Amino acid sequence: MTEQVSVLIIEDEENISDAIQYNLKQNGYQVSAAQDGLKGLEIIENQRVDLLILDIMLPGMDGLDVCKEIRKTSDMPIIMLTARSEEHNKVVGLELGADDYVTKPFSMSELLARVKSLLRRSKMKPASPVKPLSILESGDLQVDLDRHIATIEKTNLDLRPKQFDLLTFFLRNKGKALSRDQILENLWGYDYIGDVRTVDVHVRWLREIIEKDSRKPKRIITVRGFGYRFDQ
Ligand code: CA
Repeated sequence: MTEQVSVLIIEDEENISDAIQYNLKQNGYQVSAAQDGLKGLEIIENQRVDLLILDIMLPGMDGLDVCKEIRKTSDMPIIMLTARSEEHNKVVGLELGADDYVTKPFSMSELLARVKSLLRRSKMKPASPVKPLSILESGDLQVDLDRHIATIEKTNLDLRPKQFDLLTFFLRNKGKALSRDQILENLWGYDYIGDVRTVDVHVRWLREIIEKDSRKPKRIITVRGFGYRFDQ
């Protein structure tokens, strides 16, 4: 079974949004909808969206700003909805990275055709080397969660399970200062009755493995009186 293509519609005019949703669903797409830009961005952050239909005239943040925001992190196909009176916005929208536009009023078959062709085009793009989420990395350091392997410059690191978990936790929170308590809770769970110094011990062991000079750590930095921060 092929996975359903997921389309998001950001449009405040309910009747238009409903009509688009209905037609997309009829054509086998999975559909979600937002009435304004912020809600739309929230959906994009939290679920997979394969294509976006974005109205320009929105309450609050307009479609152009939404487009700009999305393009900071994603190259998902975007079709803009514009009104005839917003002719100039088409150009701006395309410059901001929208892939196509449809002028209101439009027919559903026209919109569906654009959706289809854009999806086809985006699939034909040379596959951008999207890294699977199961790989975390920082410079030459890489953790493959599926294979449960950590490497530096492609050389396997001999990590014990807790060290592996600790390294993973650091990589997921790169650049963030983590308190000893946070680390302890995350790695050993709330029920663990232990000493936060356990964390120091494990950090020391991990440093011996991943730092060039564990006495002058460059990756795991001590945040005095607080905990640790993974820098690189
Ligand atoms: Ca609108």
